[in-house]
Amino acid sequence: MTQKETSHQDMDFSEAAREAERINQDYHYFLHLEKHPKAEKKGRLSGYAVSVKDCICVKGMESRAGSRILSGFAPPYDAAVIEKVREEGGAILGKTSQDVFGFGSFNVNISKGDKLPLNPFDKERVTGGSSGGAAGVTQLLSAKHIALSESTGGSIACPASYCGVYGLTPTYGLVSRYGLMDYATSMDKIGVMAKDLEDVALMLDIISGYDKRDSTSAKRAKEDYTKHGRNRFRIGVVSESIGNGVMPKVKSNLFDKLKGHAFSEVSLPLVFRHGVATYYLISLSEASTNLAKYCGMRYGYHEALSGNFNEYFSKIREEAFSKEEKRRIILGTFARMSGYRDAYYLKALKVRTKMIEEYKSIFRNLDIIVTPTMPNIAPRFDEISKLSPLENFMMDIMTVGPNIAGLPHISIPSGMCDGLPTGFMAIADHFQEKKLIDFARGLT
Ligand code: GLN
Repeated sequence: MTQKETSHQDMDFSEAAREAERINQDYHYFLHLEKHPKAEKKGRLSGYAVSVKDCICVKGMESRAGSRILSGFAPPYDAAVIEKVREEGGAILGKTSQDVFGFGSFNVNISKGDKLPLNPFDKERVTGGSSGGAAGVTQLLSAKHIALSESTGGSIACPASYCGVYGLTPTYGLVSRYGLMDYATSMDKIGVMAKDLEDVALMLDIISGYDKRDSTSAKRAKEDYTKHGRNRFRIGVVSESIGNGVMPKVKSNLFDKLKGHAFSEVSLPLVFRHGVATYYLISLSEASTNLAKYCGMRYGYHEALSGNFNEYFSKIREEAFSKEEKRRIILGTFARMSGYRDAYYLKALKVRTKMIEEYKSIFRNLDIIVTPTMPNIAPRFDEISKLSPLENFMMDIMTVGPNIAGLPHISIPSGMCDGLPTGFMAIADHFQEKKLIDFARGLT
């Protein structure tokens, strides 16, 4: 690389960093922001700044999944997706705000000392979660930018919808989880947000593919997501997703986007009746074991050693975990305790299989399933504070289904309602992300 090319690239990224810094002062989208992001190589991401959800490890950069329990932890290695971004000449802009370990739908479950990210269209409203920072910065940054994000049960789609950007969650196993901090191992996926659909396609093309370091990584022939393909699809709108409780404008914006496309109505009774309960049983059971390793000795937050191991361990976890982390650890531990395991956790796994079968039977006749992404527009902070934990969990009714089944889905901006964005979600069969992107390309 010549001297001239190097300095040219550095200049571009510093500008992006300054813009991000200005946005961050007002909206709080970053937990860590690089002052001088650099790209080491030239490639398909030359000229792009890439923001990274905090739960994805970046070598030498504090990475704590939004949690105080990992404060000060700077990973000694890059996640697989970060290696690929660097290979292609992308510059890492910083780490974006999220609900602690992905525990939330509004990015209000943050750690002591961190700031709430604010909706780019109205500062009294939430960004959505758990990837609030990723969605907000994607909406506001004018520099060329793509966000790397993560979803367990809807954390890409929800904030993408509330902030008016594209958010793609790939099939479980398509993108390596190597270097991703676990929430619920059987459902965690790294995905992409961008304002421009072609940037989503480009990043997916770069980060997808087999990785032997992730035992759940899928071995498949590589597809080219950047190439435009077919534009006719058999589309089904889920009848349970457009009933009572969904804002009328969310529905009408969705149907406006489908104008000119033929579609039928389909039903997913099991997913809509049992999805939320199934999702929270599985995700919290897995989370409670995944978080057991944070004891104040191996990573991040620690204090001067005192007492025996149990006393020290309890003190650290009492101090550094937030209320939501404690709630989820307790619920998850209960659900998989001996005596309850069969009734809750194992039953939830069986229901999960049934739900996958329900989707599969629909995909025998259809290419794309459509629902709103969220039933509403971004709520105000004071509205969220009045929700009970159960009401909070119920907000995920649309997004948990494809996440439980490991199906790829994309949240597509569909218009505005009272000055705030609305979105809808297209879901395809496993490994059919190309269909999703081509479908989105064909919308007006
Ligand atoms: N809102 C869901 C939860 O709280 C989804 C989170 C996620 O996808 N990380 O678990």
